[in-house]
Amino acid sequence: MSTVPLVASINSSNSELCESIPPLLGASLTELTAWVQSQGQASYRGKQLHDWIYHKGARSLADISVFPKSWREKVTDVSIGRSSLHYRSVAPDDTVKYLLKLADGEIIEAVGIPSDKRLTVCVSTQVGCPMACDFCATGKGGYKRNLGRAEIVDQVLTVQEDFQQRVSNVVLMGLGEPLLNTENVIAALKCLNQDVGIGQRSLTLSTVGIRDRIRQLAQHHLQITLAVSLHAPNQNLREQIIPSAKPYPIEDLLAECREYVEITGRRVTFEYILLAGVNDLPEHALELAKRLRGFQSHVNLIPYNPIEEVDYKRPNRERIQNFMNILQQQNIAVSVRYSRGLEADAACGQLRTSKK
Ligand code: SAH
Repeated sequence: MSTVPLVASINSSNSELCESIPPLLGASLTELTAWVQSQGQASYRGKQLHDWIYHKGARSLADISVFPKSWREKVTDVSIGRSSLHYRSVAPDDTVKYLLKLADGEIIEAVGIPSDKRLTVCVSTQVGCPMACDFCATGKGGYKRNLGRAEIVDQVLTVQEDFQQRVSNVVLMGLGEPLLNTENVIAALKCLNQDVGIGQRSLTLSTVGIRDRIRQLAQHHLQITLAVSLHAPNQNLREQIIPSAKPYPIEDLLAECREYVEITGRRVTFEYILLAGVNDLPEHALELAKRLRGFQSHVNLIPYNPIEEVDYKRPNRERIQNFMNILQQQNIAVSVRYSRGLEADAACGQLRTSKK
């Protein structure tokens, strides 16, 4: 995906460089206004364009009926960047899983999770994932490419339009590792906040941790929620289940998280998958509590959601409760995420790039 500024790339592209035109989605009001002006249009057309692509569901410039027909006919090679629906399935708990087809034919997943007054969207940031965590279905399918900012924003609009309800929360917990695609992810988060209108605190980026990237993210001073997939209380166990953790000791990861808290003033959420007999013993809970003592954080336990390729087991409720109790007794803030969408293979770790 091109990162060339919108106006420069579109103007230089006109005919022969057509492929390098970035889609409009993801662009700010200022960028869109500059672009319409560069097209010889009045600046108020920028506001109209912004409104149509972010709030009125325009899928192409031809849809924007308030624009002069003669101009619409000229800019047919400019894409808004919307995906097409490849497959949709609804789980008994009303979670909706979408397989979306991108311009190059790749397929990604997004999930819509309604609850009370909220509508949360679980968004992908890459086609596939290179991280290969042992317990996660996404990594088993390999990795293709990063998503562009338009492709990330599109997922949120798609779910919003389908539910006909405003999206209240976005979690970057779909396919991919967001911090391997930092530039587009940050651009998409800013767009979701400023253009789509979702509060920064309602945007969550989940990462397994890539050296230096949490520190870099902190420099952007966003008020988003950072969730870190810790999954083990020590390096040995962590690298058994997350092979990519080998060159990045848990101490270094946690040191970066501490810096993040200092710089942004936001506490960090630590995600901890519970794999029966592997990382869910009382001694693991005690070790985790010791490691996180004094850390402005919150532990989110995720009971394992089964996938075909491995034979991990989800602990029973008693074991989960026990793990939670130990953390609480040690004054660690903790909650359990009972994943939604299990029956549609739409729960954490069950997402793939193909229909199941
Ligand atoms: N790459 C990001 C986003 C991954 S998905 C990350 O690693 O954080 C969001 C969460 O689901 C992560 O914490 C991930 O480790 C967890 N997860 C992966 N597979 C799972 C499974 N089978 N059951 C439960 N959670 C899983």
